[in-house]
Amino acid sequence: SASPVTVLGLGAMGTALAGAFLASGHPTTVWNRTPARAEPLLPLGAVRAGDVAGAVEASELVVVCLLDYASVREVLDPVAGRLKGRTLVNLTNGTPEQAREAAAWAAGHGIAYLDGGIMAVPPGIGTEQAFVLYSGSRDAFDAHRPVLERLGAAHFAGTEPGLAALLDIALLSGMYGMFAGVFHALALVDTAGVPAEEFAPLLGTWIGAMAAGIPHYARQIGSGEYADGVVSNVAMQSAAFGNLLRAAEDQGLSPELIAPLQPLMARRVAEGHGHEDVAGIVELLRR
Ligand code: NDP
Repeated sequence: SASPVTVLGLGAMGTALAGAFLASGHPTTVWNRTPARAEPLLPLGAVRAGDVAGAVEASELVVVCLLDYASVREVLDPVAGRLKGRTLVNLTNGTPEQAREAAAWAAGHGIAYLDGGIMAVPPGIGTEQAFVLYSGSRDAFDAHRPVLERLGAAHFAGTEPGLAALLDIALLSGMYGMFAGVFHALALVDTAGVPAEEFAPLLGTWIGAMAAGIPHYARQIGSGEYADGVVSNVAMQSAAFGNLLRAAEDQGLSPELIAPLQPLMARRVAEGHGHEDVAGIVELLRR
């Protein structure tokens, strides 16, 4: 029979996590600070614990998904002793440093610890699109992998506990960078009376084609060599980028979502790298 699992935190995400465990037949105990949020899960078979201690004691595997690490600490500190010998999987969004602190806290209390980053929105949990990054205890990951796979594909990033958070944040950084350009583009066509919805398919196709260049840039950033396979040198791109900013200004649109790239490209050109690829701007970011 499927192994029991406890879910602490029933926001949009925690509710989806508990729902996925219940749908695959895992006896699921839930707790939330505001108890009423457990109600939609009760007809699905969830057991509502009266307090955190009871929730923790119901399962060897405890999944926590709260707003932030401060709330995790607030909820778990009083029950640290009861978590001893169990596995804690923290799927709350945080920084690598916060993940390392949480791992150290868990180790200090004899708790097996996995930190995780959820790469899905709540309706995507338990579907083909969802994946979750984990780091920390390899033994805990191997032991609980079948249960964790109920949420989405489970990727073990490494034993360094901050790695899942780092990869999560890298993926989100890529997403927000994409959003910045996409929002700017949609606003720009709107200034000319072109409906954003009409332009959207063209933009989607273009972004997809540009994403195909990611492995090429990854090789360059990995090796620090930006002169191989250049088809669009940064001197040319820097000149053209000025047109992007001027056109936005001319249309009455602030270019602030995309503007930070310009001084970086200009510096690469000024420092003698004009013949190289634009990915070389990464060298200016390294501290
Ligand atoms: P919600 O705002 O829907 O829920 C927040 C949860 O945190 C609630 O259960 C809330 O309890 C609880 N909480 C907040 N502060 C405290 C506290 N001090 N003590 C106890 N409980 C507390 O957020 P989500 O469920 O959407 O997100 C949860 C985590 O999942 C976040 O870290 C988020 O970044 C991450 N995540 C979310 C995604 C999404 O698309 N939603 C995607 C990927 C990751 P109460 O009900 O009592 O207020």
